[in-house]
Amino acid sequence: MIYREYGKTGVKLSVIGFGGMRFENSEDIETNASLVQSAYKAGINYFDTAPLYGNSEDIFGAAFKEMKKHRAEKPFYVSTKTNRENPSEARADLETSLQRMDLDYIDFYHVWCILRPDIYQRRKQNGILTALEKFQQEGLIKHICVSTHMTGADIENMLQDYPFDGILLGYSVMNFAYRELGIEAAHRLKRGVVVMNPLGGGIIPQHAERFDFARTQQAESVVEAALRFLINDERMTVALVGMGNQDHLKEAVRAADGFHPIPSGKIFRIRNRLKDGFNELCTGCRYCDDCPQGIPIPQLMDVYNHLLLNPDSFAIRLSLHWGLSLEEDYAARCTECGQCEENCTQQLPICDRLKKIREQVEHHLASQQK
Ligand code: SF4
Ligand code: SF4
Repeated sequence: MIYREYGKTGVKLSVIGFGGMRFENSEDIETNASLVQSAYKAGINYFDTAPLYGNSEDIFGAAFKEMKKHRAEKPFYVSTKTNRENPSEARADLETSLQRMDLDYIDFYHVWCILRPDIYQRRKQNGILTALEKFQQEGLIKHICVSTHMTGADIENMLQDYPFDGILLGYSVMNFAYRELGIEAAHRLKRGVVVMNPLGGGIIPQHAERFDFARTQQAESVVEAALRFLINDERMTVALVGMGNQDHLKEAVRAADGFHPIPSGKIFRIRNRLKDGFNELCTGCRYCDDCPQGIPIPQLMDVYNHLLLNPDSFAIRLSLHWGLSLEEDYAARCTECGQCEENCTQQLPICDRLKKIREQVEHHLASQQK
């Protein structure tokens, strides 16, 4: 395992972090706790969860019981979050997280889900940052961090406005261009950088053949290649991999253990190829999932990904995978209020894509009637 220092904190973290949001069967606390413990044994020391990730904090709590016996000689670090708008609710969140995981403190506590600058300003004005400073003085949290889906310049402004110890943001071979400025700013300001969605929300392993060009070693998988592309970037501290099972864990650990620096010429070629072809994909983060017209946007944008990556499968994806009706005209229901596009972490033209999906569905239905 490779370890890197998180900003200016002096804490050394494994370049692969354990993301606790994608457990295969989150009801099975015992199996998942054992997966967390396997990660710890393999050298992973950063464990990320959140109060709204199903049973994730309970799973971590179960795993930590055993891991705490070894913590003095083999440290591990816990990250969780609050998206609350007022200090008393944030305290309630923190106390619940501590109690669920049976911890005395949280190492990296995040102001969660800053989608836009006005949301950051509102939380700040509501006293969230002052509240976190108080939690820190009480010894309940060690480091104050932020989790965001904003673009580069807005990230830089926020990091200059408040001395967060580090930042959590979505970054992968698929969307690196979109967040490049933010990563650069965080690095320059000496903040820790934890990357979520390093596998594009599952798109990269699902479309391995399309990302084959990202491979730089003969025997590596596309997942290993995508993670190594990130590990190669020394501005990044941790790539947070959502672990569902032991196979995911083994592949992520292999990516770090078998890492060799990638020559800059190869990185340049990969970046150019990706920039041209893959910067427009939905990562399934669901921040748009609150349409006043009840349109299932994340599902439909996933269908659009399939239109881009594997056009033959889009109708099956829409009807069989998501159970949506081919007859339903979602584009016609859309009032173009703009809410989803404003919240979209990838800044996708959602309204336009709804129309394109409709065109394709009509084409598909007409071809079936012939
Ligand atoms: S623009 Fe259309 S799809 Fe987006 S939230 Fe508004 S009505 Fe829904
Ligand atoms: S459309 Fe945008 S906000 Fe919605 S799930 Fe996809 S990437 Fe996320």
